[in-house]
Order: sequence, then C-alpha cells, then structure tokens
Amino acid sequence: MNELTATTFTNSQAFAKELDTKDPLKLFRERFYLPTFTENEVVYFTGNSLGLQPKSVEKYIKEELDAWAKFGVEGHFLAKKPWFSYHEFLSEKVARIVGANPEEVVVTHSLTTNLHLLMVSFYEPKGKRTKIICEAKAFPSDQYALESQVKLHGLNLDDNLIEIAPRDGEHLIREEDILAKIAEIGDELAMVMIGGVNYYTGQLFDMKSITEAGHKVGAKVGFDLAHAAGNINLKLHDWGVDFAAWCSYKYLNSSPGGVSGMFVHERHAYNPELPRLAGWWGYDKETRFQMKPGFNPMRGAEGWQLSNAPVLGMAAHLASLDIFDEAGMERIGEKRDNMTAFLEFVIEDVSAKNSDRCTFEIITPKDKTKRGAQLSILAHGQGKALFDALTEQGVVADWREPNVIRIAPAPLYNSYEDCYRFGVCLEKAIQ
Ligand SMILES: *Cc1c(COP(=O)(O)O)cnc(C)c1O
Repeated sequence: MNELTATTFTNSQAFAKELDTKDPLKLFRERFYLPTFTENEVVYFTGNSLGLQPKSVEKYIKEELDAWAKFGVEGHFLAKKPWFSYHEFLSEKVARIVGANPEEVVVTHSLTTNLHLLMVSFYEPKGKRTKIICEAKAFPSDQYALESQVKLHGLNLDDNLIEIAPRDGEHLIREEDILAKIAEIGDELAMVMIGGVNYYTGQLFDMKSITEAGHKVGAKVGFDLAHAAGNINLKLHDWGVDFAAWCSYKYLNSSPGGVSGMFVHERHAYNPELPRLAGWWGYDKETRFQMKPGFNPMRGAEGWQLSNAPVLGMAAHLASLDIFDEAGMERIGEKRDNMTAFLEFVIEDVSAKNSDRCTFEIITPKDKTKRGAQLSILAHGQGKALFDALTEQGVVADWREPNVIRIAPAPLYNSYEDCYRFGVCLEKAIQ
C-alpha cells in the first residue's frame, strides 16, 4: 500500500474496492455506527468535526453506570476502574497518540478551558516581552481565548497579538513567514500559539521548527491540536513543545463535547513556581484529602486538573482510545496518506472531466507532509449550491463561509469506496 502514488490510481469502483480489500485497517469500519439518517447511503466525511460512535462505547459507559448504581459514592474506590483515578487509565494511551510521556498528558475539562489554563501558565508577559504570534483566522474560540488572555494582563491587542496571514492572493500561510516573524519580534515575543493543523485549509505546520524558532528567541510555544490529535503522527515530547491541548470528539471519536487532553512538557511539569489556576484535583494526590490550605501541585500535567474526572465522557474516550491502540497511529497514518491522495485524485479527475462548468480548487497543500486527512475545496461562485447538491445525495461534509467545503476521510471508518462514491456525487452535483 505504501508505494501507491497518483500515477497508479484509477477513478473506478473496481479500483477503489481493490484498495479496500488490501487495506489492513478495513475491519475497523465495522466497529463504528455509520449514520442512517440520509436517504441515500451515507458518505461520512466529517470526522474532523465529530467522529463517529464506536459500537463499544455503550459497554464502557454501562460499566460505569452499573458501578454507580451498585456502589454510589464508593465507586470512587470500589468500581472496577476506580473513579478517583479514572483519568490514569487514559494517560498512557493518549500519550502514544500525541508522542508524549504519560506524565506529560492528562485528560480533563474541555478544549477552550484547557487552552486558557495553559496560557495562564505559559503566557507571562514581562517587561518588553509581551507579544503573541498566532495564525490569522484562527478558529474563533482560539481567537477569543487569545484576545482575552492579552486583555487579562491589561495589554492592548493591536500591539501584542500578531497574526500571520497568507500573502496576498494565496490561501496558505508560508512557514517561512512564521519563522521570519518570530525572529523579527525576537526578545519582545512571549508566546507562539498556533493550530497544529489549520481547521479551515487543513494545512499542517512544522511544529518542530516553529518550536525551535520560538525557543531560540526565548518564547514559549504551544499548539491547539484539535485538528491534529488522532490525525497526525505527533511527537510533542521530542519536538520540545511547551504545551498543547486538543479535543477528543473530532478525529478521536469520543462523543459530542467530549473531554479534552492537555500536554505540558516534562521540563515544566515539575515546576511549582509557574503561575496557574488551581483546583483540588491538581493537588498532590497523596495528601489531597488532608484539605490543607496552600496549593501543592501534582507533578506532571495532572497538576493542571481543576476538577474530578467527568467519568461518563471519559469512558467514551477510553473506548475509542482502545481502538486507536489496536490500530496504531503508524498504520492510521499510512492509510490517511493513501486515502487522502486517492480522494484528491478522484476530485481532480472529476474536475478535469467537467472543466467547462467546474470552478473549484483544492486549497489544502498537495504535499502529504503538510496536511492530514482533510481536503478543503474552494468553490468559486457555485459554492453553497454545490454543497447542497452533495448533501442531497447522502454526503455529510462541512460548509464554511464564505465558500469552502471541507471533507475529511477518517482512516478508521472510511473506505476507498467512500472516496469513489464522493466523486460520483460530486460529478452529479456539478451537472
Ligand atoms: C473544534 C475546535 C475548538 C472547539 O473548542 P471547544 O472548547 O471544544 O468547544 C477549538 N479550537 C479549535 C482549533 C477547534 O478546531
């Protein structure tokens, strides 16, 4: 499968089926519920918004409901997976997905909350070092979070929040522009905070070189990995990233609004001097219930937990993490690259055959090392009508104003035949 390239692809159902037959992950599709609400058979390409439900989730949640019924409060200690330390059952599995040591990660709260908690610790404007570099048109929640962090320190936005945008006439941000800006701002730069994969274009940034550039000028570097966790092969520890957070409900298939994960590099995780917003679950667990005044944090990322674990949501996450463990990020990454390349080929083939009426282009990078599973299609002119015609045929895709259709084939449950069928729907939609 590895040596597949566009030159060996054919846009036909037989070819797609052959790829499915050879797919080492093909049986995982049966572990998920594919939506049944569409009139025509579904092509579900929105795993980047809400991943599908693993069939095993019910069993994991039922186990905790039964423990609650049987033990009441004593479930914190008597449940098969005691709730007191429920988050610990997830740490090693999550660490494998983001490339971290287990002590560097914790699953808790929600994504925007975690971004705030981490920025309280890692955005420490002092003297002339007050500026933040972020991407222009970041996901709205990230924009609001960044703005409010700057204001919290009594600083003004125009001078301190520096957005890197694509150059005029281009859709993607050039990495060289990020690196140049970091060097230019130099000792006035306090923090870089960027989405590892841009939610709109699907562009994957080189987190290693951005981290190195930030550290070179003495800044902290963090990433929002909402569109990267479970999608990209990450190495947060080795890259030296200071902090990161992600949600579990996109590529990680762990229920709507499901719990978030956070990463704090081990060089910070044992530093009780860092400013932080504290809560009892971040307190050293050996002495937590002595309930003494004065905060003594847990070592590692767990020290950023405010509250006790939301067990039902975490049970759903655990069910999904067990599937990721079985499939392995390496195989998931290989299928991601092959399937995304095939889908791209199908779209370009349809586009070429209908060049007289077709006016769309894929703005996601072509280079597979610069993207994950997502393709963003810019639909000039006919945009929303094209999208609606796709929806009518059973395609679940995502429309973003002003004119982008985002699709993401998820390696665990999408098939090559889904990609082929998308092409058929797209061709009908154009006509
Ligand atoms: C999905 C997403 C969010 C959502 O934040 P929640 O706190 O989970 O609602 C935030 N940022 C980015 C970049 C996202 O893609």
